[in-house]
Amino acid sequence: MSEQINCRNCHELIPYRSKTCPACGIEKPLPKKERVKDRVILVVAGIVVVLLAAMVLGMANAYIGVFK
Ligand SMILES: [Zn+2]
Repeated sequence: MSEQINCRNCHELIPYRSKTCPACGIEKPLPKKERVKDRVILVVAGIVVVLLAAMVLGMANAYIGVFK
C-alpha cells in the first residue's frame, strides 16, 4: 500500500514521491509540507553548526586557560 498525497497544483490524490502529477502533469507535485520538512532540516543543521562552533570556542578557551 503506497502513501498518497494531494498535488500542490490540482489537489488530486497522487502516489507519494511522484516526479510528475498524473492528473495535471506538473513537475514536483509535492505539497508545501515537504518544503517545510526541508527547512526544518536546514534549521537543525544550523543549530548543530552553532553548537559545534560554541564547543570549539569553549575548548579553545580552556586550552588557552591551561597555558596562562
Ligand atoms: Zn496535479
